[in-house]
Amino acid sequence: MFEFKITCKPETGRARTGVLKTHHGMVQTPVFMPVGTLGTVKAVSAEELKEIGAQIILGNTYHLYLRPGCDVIDRFGGLHRFMHWDRAILTDSGGFQVFSLAKLAKIQDEGVTFQSHIDGSTHMLTPEKAVEIQLTLGSDIIMCLDDCIQYPSTRNETETALELTTNWAKRCKVVWESQGRDNIALFGIVQGGMFEDLRKQSAEALKEIGFSGYAIGGLSVGEPREMLYQMADLSLAHLPDNFPKYIMGVGTPEDLVELVGLGADMFDCVLPTRNARNGQLITRKGNLNICNAQFKFDTGPIDENCDCYTCRNYSRAYLRHLYLARELLVYRLNTIHNIHFYITLMEEIREAIKENQFNEFKKQFYSMRQC
Ligand SMILES: [Zn+2]
Repeated sequence: MFEFKITCKPETGRARTGVLKTHHGMVQTPVFMPVGTLGTVKAVSAEELKEIGAQIILGNTYHLYLRPGCDVIDRFGGLHRFMHWDRAILTDSGGFQVFSLAKLAKIQDEGVTFQSHIDGSTHMLTPEKAVEIQLTLGSDIIMCLDDCIQYPSTRNETETALELTTNWAKRCKVVWESQGRDNIALFGIVQGGMFEDLRKQSAEALKEIGFSGYAIGGLSVGEPREMLYQMADLSLAHLPDNFPKYIMGVGTPEDLVELVGLGADMFDCVLPTRNARNGQLITRKGNLNICNAQFKFDTGPIDENCDCYTCRNYSRAYLRHLYLARELLVYRLNTIHNIHFYITLMEEIREAIKENQFNEFKKQFYSMRQC
């Protein structure tokens, strides 16, 4: 059975550590989940992810539903066996991609009709179908279908989308309950755009319906950073503390540190993997662009304090050479380092919280990153 337990909650501040008990092992929180859009965290294998210390990864329902299709994954009994990953998996509902990637998305109360970005075929995603697809994928944590709006959106647009999101959340809960799968968690998603009262209203409505955990969606969509923190802050504050709280699609190392401080437990973001493929390497002393001429003769690793596979074995000069020559190995080596940075950052955060040193950790983190 899915469970969440808070393991440490210092009296000062809102940061806490916890553990998610899933069908595929324990997940220590706060946790960063690498994004495995198409059943693969781009450029690295499941074994490499385990070696780096990833406890849980994210899969994208929209992508997997369109390609290879649920029938293929069902033949393997689910995504875990299909992609050879035996730790936890969280899948999103597909809503975000339908609204951002698919063509001609048409929203109705029933669901959303869209055309595949791959072959133009027409599909309809309903709250019921979103849950059923995720159950077929065999995810440990599944997400409700939500209506994702753009930034900026008017109050009217935001209210309409919120009403739909709440109704869809109720319908997702009904299907999930009817399946009696208490080893699979269903999370509701707080929306409400950049309006404080609508965010609060959304959190209250979801709490009323009752979920295994709560996510905060619709952030990091182009709004100023202060607004992101403000919306996350009040959304987190209105969600019940004894449940996991997940901020979707965020963010930079600084965002993670700030949001943990506001009480967030779970994160996902394409930033470390996407940046790795663009030659942007993340270190505790700031980010570096491996293309820079200054690294041409640099015999040192990306970060002398990093003990990832890449830093233990390869130099900046070699990585720069591979990147400029567009050699495939560089995508793997860069990705290993960047994911390792995020996973290690979360480990250090958990340690700091347990020792009641989170504020000191934060100060040190910022002073180092600005080096
Ligand atoms: Zn490294």
